[in-house]
Amino acid sequence: MKNVIIAGSGNAALCAGIAALENGAKVLMLEKADQDMSGGNTKYTAGAMRFAYENGSSLLPLLQNPDDPRIATTDFGSYPREKFASDLLGFNGGRPLSVEQETLVSESYDAMAWLSSHDVKFDPIYARQSFKKDGRDVFWGGLTLASANEGVGLFDQELDAFTRMGGEIRYNCAVTELVTDGDAVTGVKTSTRETLMADSVILACGGFEANADLRKTHIGDDWDKAKVRGTPHNTGDGLVMAQKLGAQTYGFFGGCHATPMDLHMVDYGNLDIPAGERKNYRKICYFLGVMLNAKGDRFVDEGINFRNYTYAQFGAAIMEQPEHFAWQIFDAKVADLLYAEYNFHDAHYVEAESLDELITKLDGVDQAGATATLSAYNDAVNDDVAFDPTVLDGKSTTGLALAKSNWAQKIDQGPFRAYPVTGGITFTYGGLKVNGQGCILHENGAPISGLYACGEMVGGVFFEGYPGGSGLTSGVVFGRRAGKGAAGS
Ligand SMILES: Cc1cc2nc3c(=O)[nH]c(=O)nc-3n(C[C@H](O)[C@H](O)[C@H](O)COP(=O)(O)OP(=O)(O)OC[C@H]3O[C@@H](n4cnc5c(N)ncnc54)[C@H](O)[C@@H]3O)c2cc1C
Repeated sequence: MKNVIIAGSGNAALCAGIAALENGAKVLMLEKADQDMSGGNTKYTAGAMRFAYENGSSLLPLLQNPDDPRIATTDFGSYPREKFASDLLGFNGGRPLSVEQETLVSESYDAMAWLSSHDVKFDPIYARQSFKKDGRDVFWGGLTLASANEGVGLFDQELDAFTRMGGEIRYNCAVTELVTDGDAVTGVKTSTRETLMADSVILACGGFEANADLRKTHIGDDWDKAKVRGTPHNTGDGLVMAQKLGAQTYGFFGGCHATPMDLHMVDYGNLDIPAGERKNYRKICYFLGVMLNAKGDRFVDEGINFRNYTYAQFGAAIMEQPEHFAWQIFDAKVADLLYAEYNFHDAHYVEAESLDELITKLDGVDQAGATATLSAYNDAVNDDVAFDPTVLDGKSTTGLALAKSNWAQKIDQGPFRAYPVTGGITFTYGGLKVNGQGCILHENGAPISGLYACGEMVGGVFFEGYPGGSGLTSGVVFGRRAGKGAAGS
């Protein structure tokens, strides 16, 4: 029986653990954080997972409650592999699909079915991914399921499966160094001053998003100022330890997943808020209004695509603006469509009966610039096209240098609201090169015997953007591989 040590306890670590146990290994998971903060970024997620599927029937085996009567009046559509692949390709900045992306697409449904076989179950994301249309719930954007009770629920269900199968987990126990014998990894040293030997070590320590120095080095000068949406513990430890052994870095280090967030949020995500409110100050309904920077200018096409395809890039777009902030502006027509977090008790916003009055309340914004931008925007809205948030409705502006391509409604009905936002980093894209068994490759191209990686630590999965819900699926696909590989090595 192989002894496997896993560093980390997020989605990727737990999937690796379940797969290693399934393949006959004895597994010890070491987590840097205490028990409450274990589970890494996984716990902060909405638990939404993107995968290729044929139709609504393909989703039934994955559901916690397949007999829910609402399902009969729901249009789940389909999400073919080709569409998943082209969605990823759309963010590659001209690069072809990587081997890792091809793997993610082709194994995505199977990964969900595998999780479901371990009693990890899912619910349709009615509140965020569907709109009512002619009495039916119509899903849009290819993202349909999330784990029950979001990321915490995913973590709980996976941890249950892991411990049920005999896996062991220790908290407050960071892996600080890899132990080697010749070129092979044979164990780890820990923050508890122990040396633990193993046949294989799987690094599932997340990315370097919570390390301000590494962010500055790799992503850019201003990124030390970004808010962090998730755990403070993902400081790139796994990456640094593997690099010391000559591991090959891989993927796009200059980019990251970053999202519009409440400007006044705390520096890291907050797990102490109730389920259903764990969006951690996220503000991604910009597609229903417009965003203005300090000059009062718009700076992105807020309606260029469904927000699943833009929210991970628009955080960086805000970070590029003067003083790294923007205001999202909405009128009363869309008040009911704004996601719940816009009305959380600690959401920051200003409100006014008239647009002119609202503009006077936009701290840090050039008022003349904002007035001119909003007036030009309202004049450019095409009122002949109907507004329909379930599709790319083509209700666009005409004649603006920077168009709003869909869902462009006049901002003209009070009361008006504006929300101050900044960029919050979710996770980093650069990582390590692994082979088909999840084994980390040395710079010389050879596998580093006994050393595996999964989750955010795998490079080459995302480059210049991200179709929402792909991170968790990637953790399952590459976690499962690493667990199987480590159990067999
Ligand atoms: C607010 C938020 C919302 C998100 N929503 C979604 C979503 O709905 N769908 C989606 O697909 N993705 C989402 N993501 C992205 C998703 O969280 C990640 O892709 C995924 O959780 C990464 O899993 P992981 O296991 O690689 O890392 P993590 O879950 O972050 O786990 C890494 C773990 O390693 C531990 N660790 C770090 N260093 C060490 C060390 N030296 N020794 C031991 N342990 C260590 C950390 O404490 C942590 O527990 C979201 C992220 C955030 C922050």
